[in-house]
Order: sequence, then structure tokens, then C-alpha cells
Amino acid sequence: MSPFEHAMLAVNGCLATRLQEKWGWSIAAVAGVSALTPDWDGLTLLGSGALFAQAHRVWGHNLVAAASIGVLLGLIDYRFDVLGHCGRRLRRWLPDPPRPVQWRVEQHRSVRGYLLWSIVAAAAALSHLAGDLLFSGGMGLADWELQLAWPFSPRGWVYPMVPWGDVGVTLVFAAGMFAMLRRPAGVTQVARVTLIAVALYVLVRGFCFA
Ligand SMILES: [Zn+2]
Repeated sequence: MSPFEHAMLAVNGCLATRLQEKWGWSIAAVAGVSALTPDWDGLTLLGSGALFAQAHRVWGHNLVAAASIGVLLGLIDYRFDVLGHCGRRLRRWLPDPPRPVQWRVEQHRSVRGYLLWSIVAAAAALSHLAGDLLFSGGMGLADWELQLAWPFSPRGWVYPMVPWGDVGVTLVFAAGMFAMLRRPAGVTQVARVTLIAVALYVLVRGFCFA
């Protein structure tokens, strides 16, 4: 899956649950960012090629690391509103949204908020692993197994349904995004339809056009 697809999968998953209505759009933003975090192990390329070969798709792409980093990101964002600050800075260069966006509903921090932010961020990070399990191989490349139980077990998992480079799911997410722009009041419904369309696409692509 591309970074865009990972982020959109998590954002749509969050919007489909209506959490943004009760807690503000900040919760969807943290889901989108958290869904990108497992790819941090790709940064090992800055160290050396050997380190990258050893670490990429291993150190960040396992259940323990993905969930832990997700929880940490959720707690930090809820406490310090990191993405809120980034969003407000970004807003200066962006056109006004079609209707006012409520970033945070709560005025004060609560235990429920800390719990929710960490659960949503962890679930988003884990959705990245699910995506990488299903989107693999193609273009002459071998399927790339994920060592989900690393460092406790070297066993690899992969269930290739959609090859790398396939743009089908990107187009579905993009269509969903434009539909949300046209119908801001129907964001939840559009997110649900988008996720169903993505699931159907993966199934049809995997079983009928493998
Ligand atoms: Zn990945």
C-alpha cells in the first residue's frame, strides 16, 4: 500500500465510526498519521544498505512495535495537541473548508480521551500491517512477508491480493475524498461506502484477477 492509501484507510475507518462528531477532527488526523508510522524502519536506509536490508519491514512492521508506537503517538498527541498545532499552521496556506471544522470538542483532558486516542492510534498503526499483508508482490517482485511476531518469532506472513503499483484502491479513496468535499454532512456515510468499495475491490482483484 502507498502512504496515501495507508493514511486514508485509517482516516476512513475513524470517520466511519463517527468519532470525529463527539471528539473533533483531531482524532481522525491522529489515525491518519499513526497509520504511516510502521514505515519508520525504512529510515534505516540513512544508516547503511546492510542495516536497511536487515531492518526494513521488520523493526516497524510487527505487532508489538506498531501497537506500542501507535499508543505512544496517541498519548503524546492527546496531551500536547501536536497535530492541532501543525494543522493550524497549515491552515494559513489552505483555502477555508466548506464548513467550520471543530478540531477538539473537549476543553480539558480526560482519562477517556487518553484511552481513546491511544486505542485509535494503535488500531491505525495495526491497519498498516493489514494493508501490507494484502498488498504485495507484482511487477516481477516477490511477495514480502511480514514478521508480525518479531522479535519473538521469525515466522513470516503474507496474503497477496493486490500487487504493488495497482492504483485501484488509490482511485477509490480519492473518489471518496471528493465525495466528502461535495457532501460534508454525509462524511460518515461516504467513509463507510468507501471502505466497503475498498474491501470489494481487494476481494475481486485478489480472487478474480490474480
Ligand atoms: Zn509498510
